[in-house]
Amino acid sequence: MKALSLLGSTGSIGTQTLDIAAQYPDQFRIVGLAAGRNVDLLAQQVRQFRPLIVAVSDADRLPDLKAAIADLSPQPILLAGQEGVIEVARCAEADVVVTGIVGCAGLLPTIAAIKAGKDIALANKETLIAGAPVVLPLVKQHGVKLLPADSEHSAIFQCLQGVPAGGLRRILLTASGGSFRDLPVEKLAQVTVADALKHPNWTMGRKITIDSATLMNKGLEVIEAHYLFGVDYDHIAIVIHPQSIIHSLIELEDTSVLAQLGWADMRLPLLYALSYPDRIATNWEPLDLVKLGNLTFREPDHEKYPCMQLAYAAGRAGGCMPAVLNAANEQAVALFLEEKIRFLDIPRLIEQTCDRYQTQNRSDPALEDILAADDWARQDTLTASQPLIAAH
Ligand code: MG
Repeated sequence: MKALSLLGSTGSIGTQTLDIAAQYPDQFRIVGLAAGRNVDLLAQQVRQFRPLIVAVSDADRLPDLKAAIADLSPQPILLAGQEGVIEVARCAEADVVVTGIVGCAGLLPTIAAIKAGKDIALANKETLIAGAPVVLPLVKQHGVKLLPADSEHSAIFQCLQGVPAGGLRRILLTASGGSFRDLPVEKLAQVTVADALKHPNWTMGRKITIDSATLMNKGLEVIEAHYLFGVDYDHIAIVIHPQSIIHSLIELEDTSVLAQLGWADMRLPLLYALSYPDRIATNWEPLDLVKLGNLTFREPDHEKYPCMQLAYAAGRAGGCMPAVLNAANEQAVALFLEEKIRFLDIPRLIEQTCDRYQTQNRSDPALEDILAADDWARQDTLTASQPLIAAH
């Protein structure tokens, strides 16, 4: 039985983690829950899973949460704000902390969990993309495990089980191609938020669905794979695989290629991150190759999707540049979701912000440097977007 603390419990990763916990109550116990501001759902989750400690990030919602579970006995410890989320991350009873918070907000609680000796089921990309220079030494120092919950990194991690040191040559990350994979490049200028939110294969949160449509999601995953598996950027490639059945592959030194396959369902990589190194028997629908018929692949189109190259460049620059890329992307995507800028403005804004940051970048940043770079990039992107917003 593993005890889980769950950060971002009302989001896409959070609710799917709770589905797993509800399905396998003899394997997993929920000891901590933290959510942003969806107090109605959080209160339901508290009722169902009876955690010891609960936090709501938006402190204004704490009274509503208190009222919604006032009849429960015993009462969980109730906290608010980022400090509260950090306490849930460090919860003494937790074995594994699931980091399902989107964005840089997940970084500090994840660091707190690592320092408290928790294994991390990593579903927050920014932990490594922005935070790797600080997070990786801490992981080593505290002897904790970073267990990838993202489907691609889980696939690579699963394929790597049993591969000896020095055996890995290359990583092949698969990409669905996102909402616009079959749209001609000249039509991309006109696409709307509603169009971009229609992902062909995966059900995910809004921000990551836009990242899939721009393929920035894949670019961010390249950086994450570099840090997680210690593979240099020349040995990480992207291949478009529209069916999203092969979740990624590794090529070994002898040219043997290993892949992990499964339906496009986040619960499987999540389950492996939670159960590692064990395999839990499920009654989920088995993969049926004959029913699938075809698995196809194509070259990624870097002209249509400049975000991938921007991510490779930021990854190679290292230091705070991945944090800047990520923050500029978050800001640009937020503006697009608010219908203030156009789809193609997203990569333009990110590229300009990264260019302006170049001379300030440093190779061995401390946490304060990373957080400052993140702040700077958000502000810079927002400032640069003003003429675009006015023209939109
Ligand atoms: Mg992914």
